[in-house]
Amino acid sequence: MHILLMGPPGAGKGTQAAELVKAFAIPHISTGDMFRAAIKEGTALGREAKGYMDQGKLVPDSVTIGIVRERLAKDDCKKGFILDGFPRTVEQADALDGILKELGLKLTRVLNINVPAADLIERATGRRICKQCGATYHVKFNPPKKEGICDACGGELFQRADDTAETMKNRLSVYEASTKPLIDYYEKAGIYTEVDGRQAIDKVTADLISTLKG
Ligand SMILES: [Zn+2]
Repeated sequence: MHILLMGPPGAGKGTQAAELVKAFAIPHISTGDMFRAAIKEGTALGREAKGYMDQGKLVPDSVTIGIVRERLAKDDCKKGFILDGFPRTVEQADALDGILKELGLKLTRVLNINVPAADLIERATGRRICKQCGATYHVKFNPPKKEGICDACGGELFQRADDTAETMKNRLSVYEASTKPLIDYYEKAGIYTEVDGRQAIDKVTADLISTLKG
């Protein structure tokens, strides 16, 4: 069960990845975690990545791909994995195919949690967070009992500065432009499946699991 999980920012990818980890007992491998682990372990590539990041520079593909290769070669990936955040480009997808081939593995399925931009913007702009305990609410889908006040602790609710329609529109258009070629790539490979991310969280999970089992 070697899976690539895709989805726009705010589609609930992290939540769904956690459910798939539970369902199939395979590791969730996100790019962020991989980088943090490589840096913590002090591998040569980890140190190289850190050098770029410390200078505020983008980590070049060669380093990123090397870190992915190190991670996927570990024993816990033999049975499967849920890859998240890589590849982001067709070049990286080609590199991933190469790594997996070397390891005698193959992507089983590419799952995309699809949520239309308008829904993602509504989700983001309605989000409110408690200043005290971090609980999250939504003005429409999950409102607090008293407007602006946290049910759990009575703290004041606030809106994150980047949860605006403008910021979301920008993030989504960047995401769409970079992801479209990847979708085409995996559609051509015959392993691409889209799941309707507008559904309730448990329904999305059920769809993902039935796709993988089917
Ligand atoms: Zn609270």
